[in-house]
Amino acid sequence: MKSYHTLDEIQKDIRLGKISCKALVEHYLSNIKVHSDLNAFVEVYSSEALQRADIVDVRIKENRAGKLAGLIFGIKDLICFQDHKISGASKILQNFESQITATAVEKLLQEDAILIGRQNCDEFGMGSSNENSYYGPVKNALDQSKVAGGSSGGSAVAIQADMCQISLGTDTGGSVRQPAAFCGIVGLKPTYSRISRWGLLAYASSFDSIGIFSKSIEDNARVLEVIAGKDERDGTSSSKTVPAYSQELESKKPFKVAYLREALETEALQPEIKTAIETQISNLKAAGHTVESVEFPLLDYILPTYYILTTAEVSSNLSRYDGVRYGHRSSAVSDLESLYKNSRTEGFGAEARKRIMLGTFVLSADYYDAYFTKAQKARKLIKVATEKILSEYDFIIIPTTPTTAFKLGEHTKSPIEVYMADLFTVQASISGLPALSIPVGNDDNGMPIGLQIIAAAFEEGKLFAFSKNLIQTI
Ligand code: GLN
Repeated sequence: MKSYHTLDEIQKDIRLGKISCKALVEHYLSNIKVHSDLNAFVEVYSSEALQRADIVDVRIKENRAGKLAGLIFGIKDLICFQDHKISGASKILQNFESQITATAVEKLLQEDAILIGRQNCDEFGMGSSNENSYYGPVKNALDQSKVAGGSSGGSAVAIQADMCQISLGTDTGGSVRQPAAFCGIVGLKPTYSRISRWGLLAYASSFDSIGIFSKSIEDNARVLEVIAGKDERDGTSSSKTVPAYSQELESKKPFKVAYLREALETEALQPEIKTAIETQISNLKAAGHTVESVEFPLLDYILPTYYILTTAEVSSNLSRYDGVRYGHRSSAVSDLESLYKNSRTEGFGAEARKRIMLGTFVLSADYYDAYFTKAQKARKLIKVATEKILSEYDFIIIPTTPTTAFKLGEHTKSPIEVYMADLFTVQASISGLPALSIPVGNDDNGMPIGLQIIAAAFEEGKLFAFSKNLIQTI
């Protein structure tokens, strides 16, 4: 079976009787098997997906199928599906079964999309290379010696290697956009609160967002319009009306676009990425858009602000995994303290332990003001400065990542080098703004380059319409 670029094409062929949901599921299951060495899935729901496909095929025949019939999707191992395992790629939740289904998943299922499996990721979403997973690293399908990106690496590679049509990932500081860039696909982090977080394992709650991986802008828009919206079970979810994004993809309007001079001048930027972004800027100008450079002197503060705030939140969020209520319990226990200590030491991986300790430190009474309060203030300044740019411009464009996918193991000794991979993605996260990564070419080794486009809050529709003209064929 050919690999389909969009759900539209799939649904057309279903209507013409050329394919069925069952044949699609079989196709993806066979790809998952062929590419098992990429380590993208931690669990595949083979028989359930096939059974569901039969049901949806009947519904299609009887003309009562939902609008996503024919869509086969996967979910990151941080998103709940009732009565199925969920582990956050951590030993601490090994064999834990979810008692709820995430709202986003529920909404996709209600529209007859079919869930094919659970995808590998960095432990609780902490990482930029998918090397912090209990299940081992995910490999980039274009070059298996390279990382997939993280933390939603399995979800990105599943799209890259055609193991499903859509993946739901999570993005706290870039975990959808960064692996999308490394794998040459489309990755959206919507506005904070646009998609309910109900059923998402918390990493840093004031940043966490479910995000969407796809091959096309069209599919991303179609999925967002189904899963976005108010949910009584997530008090932070927005009640703003959800537009029909997929109906608003045509936009020829000349836009005002800003790019951050500091981002293009930073030494950390790989030269081919700089060239690719400069080419985009010239193309946009030639197409009649206004493109201007703006200053963003706060760029150096973005990463420290992000890592102080998220480690603080993670130390609090992960305190629930204590060996008592759920998850791994150590057998080397003599009293309550050793139960907590040994269960957590054995259950969490090195990166999670490091961040919990760092977060506990920045929240401790003596250092709270010096770190946490200061970082909150810096967050506000970064948000205000970013929003100011977006009050004058329609979009900010910035590389998604400073480098293309790096070698597995290359940065494992130096966490700072890995944290640098988030240099350009955390700005939108700190500010709660929607941002999309699209592929715009390759480096000299053929590895994909991502362009990131940031818009004002709730302007996902505008983001899609603008990006559709820039994307380069995957
Ligand atoms: N790489 C970043 C981190 O480790 C972002 C992760 C994410 O967005 N979940 O925090």
